[in-house]
Amino acid sequence: MAEDLDTFRAETRRWLEANCPPEMRTPMTSEKDVCWGGRNFTFQSEAQKQWLKVMGERGWTVPDWPKEYGGGGLSPAETKVLRQEMAALGCRKPLESFGISMLGPALLKYGTEEQKHEHLPKIARGEIRWCQGYSEPNAGSDLASLATSAEDKGDHFLVNGQKVWTSYADQADWIFCLTRTDTSTKQGGITFLLFDMESEGVSTKPILLISGNSPFCETFFDDVKVPKDQVLGEINQGWSVAKYLLGHEREMISGMGGRSQGPSLSDYALGKIGKDEHGRLDDPVLRARIAMYEVRSHAFAAMSERFMDRLKAGKIHPAQPSMMKYYGTELNKDRHELFMAAGGSDALEWDSEGSGGGKAARAWLRTKANSIEGGTSEIQLNIVAKRILELPEA
Ligand SMILES: Cc1cc2nc3c(=O)[nH]c(=O)nc-3n(C[C@H](O)[C@H](O)[C@H](O)COP(=O)(O)OP(=O)(O)OC[C@H]3O[C@@H](n4cnc5c(N)ncnc54)[C@H](O)[C@@H]3O)c2cc1C
Repeated sequence: MAEDLDTFRAETRRWLEANCPPEMRTPMTSEKDVCWGGRNFTFQSEAQKQWLKVMGERGWTVPDWPKEYGGGGLSPAETKVLRQEMAALGCRKPLESFGISMLGPALLKYGTEEQKHEHLPKIARGEIRWCQGYSEPNAGSDLASLATSAEDKGDHFLVNGQKVWTSYADQADWIFCLTRTDTSTKQGGITFLLFDMESEGVSTKPILLISGNSPFCETFFDDVKVPKDQVLGEINQGWSVAKYLLGHEREMISGMGGRSQGPSLSDYALGKIGKDEHGRLDDPVLRARIAMYEVRSHAFAAMSERFMDRLKAGKIHPAQPSMMKYYGTELNKDRHELFMAAGGSDALEWDSEGSGGGKAARAWLRTKANSIEGGTSEIQLNIVAKRILELPEA
């Protein structure tokens, strides 16, 4: 078994060396380097396009999905080896996708065979980009209050209502959307629908953020016809699908706390501040704060590794993604606080060439949303308190 894995490792390394373009082996420097795929995506370079193509053909954008649905059919151990070898060569992630991290797992668990064959291969190859229609103006943390209606019209639903904070809705091709099909009960009246954003009656309006970017939208539905075979799971049973998907969303967001994210904090601080006579960072207070962060970050990386192994083996407690999401996002916020501290007044610059157009400040501001998106930190702590610590409700 170990020998098989060694052979797999050697073959994987050879394949990556032969197929990953050199430009795709350099660290991403901005959001623009992320490959989202989809009908409307403009590739940054031929190398980015080629990298997605070869990885998609091999099923390695989703290495552990079954081959019949466009995946690589790899075992958890092989998937880990692939991840390690990609990290060792500095290969970029070929595709970032809500389809991979959120909808895919829900389709695999709740989808019909037709739905799986229709949607999963397109997600794997980066052909269709998905957005998430969960939150509404009066339904965020209290998500089951959602009011967007889906009226049963025999062979289709007629969808009316509004979503908010829909990330990249204006660039997405399809939406996975929570709708109300029964008003007499809260959780029991929700239906999970999949539909094309080009359907008649769908419109989007971007919302500008504090960071100056505008990745999310208000999304409006005005008499949108959705065929009945585009329900994921059962009618009125969408809450179970929604919760399952949220676990995967929280797992994805917790990854932000990962140590391999972006440039090295220590190198950045050394570059900005310099070394003392012992070769250490020449600021004892910042040095201690960075050391503390590094210790916490190593511990989190070890816990994440165990968490992922248990997740793939189907052995995690259902509330564990909340724990990981809470800690991972707090850690990522701390990391960017430290980048700002190390950068000093340069890091506060918004427009200058030296600050790369305010890269550090914009990234720092973006992290403020980490403890809100995918469910706020307060909500995660409530879940941990109730479901892991078994404390009584307030
Ligand atoms: C960057 C970003 C991207 C997002 N992308 C999407 C997306 O693609 N699709 C989508 O559907 N949604 C998206 N969201 C929305 C996100 O899921 C919601 O913002 C989040 O669930 C919080 O809901 P809310 O904004 O309505 O805040 P509220 O629920 O109104 O909360 C306001 C405050 O009250 C606190 N609070 C509320 N209830 C409790 C409670 N019971 N106990 C303790 N404190 C409580 C909250 O923690 C928070 O601090 C995104 C949000 C962000 C910031």
